[in-house]
Amino acid sequence: SRLEDGRLPLDLAACDVGALVERAMEQLSSLAAERNVLVQTDLPASLPRIHADAELIVRVVQNLLGNALKFSGRGSTVLVRAWPVDSEARGTDMPEPNAAHAAMPVSQVCIAVSDRGIGIDARHQEKIFAKFSQVSDRRGGSGLGLTFCKLVVEAHGGAIWVQSAIGEGSTFFFTLPVAADA
Ligand code: ADP
Repeated sequence: SRLEDGRLPLDLAACDVGALVERAMEQLSSLAAERNVLVQTDLPASLPRIHADAELIVRVVQNLLGNALKFSGRGSTVLVRAWPVDSEARGTDMPEPNAAHAAMPVSQVCIAVSDRGIGIDARHQEKIFAKFSQVSDRRGGSGLGLTFCKLVVEAHGGAIWVQSAIGEGSTFFFTLPVAADA
């Protein structure tokens, strides 16, 4: 609730995305082992640093990764990727780097967590970011994880969205601003 009414000041600093992802992965290594899900990363070494509250972003990645693990089958793989994008990239299209992006100044980093789990029906995809929202297959949890992610990402000036298909899996994307001295 402090995030909601803007009473949580962000402790902003230039942060290395790889280090934040590593920290989130460490917190979830036993859940990954228990569920027999392999977590892979694809994080270019050249990625610019982000202007972010490290503690909060670790928790965002932890929530997304935790959900990816929860909703994946045994033996499945979860992938965490990140790449630079221009500031217009948001919405449902995947902002993969391309020639157009290369010509534009990079101002955001997009981070994506993909699973090959149960997927989310199109009619639930907007709703899941709302408070206490859970789809029928809940697998525990509070229905607040994605609400927290959305509040944190938006407090940073970023966006969060999902692409998913039932039975195929889900990818959650979010963007964060690049640090001035990145
Ligand atoms: P919860 O604590 O219930 O997991 P979240 O806000 O994190 O709450 O997620 C809300 C709902 O969105 C979940 O209950 C689940 O129905 C759906 N969901 C979230 N992530 C995934 C995912 N990776 N795959 C399938 N469903 C998901």
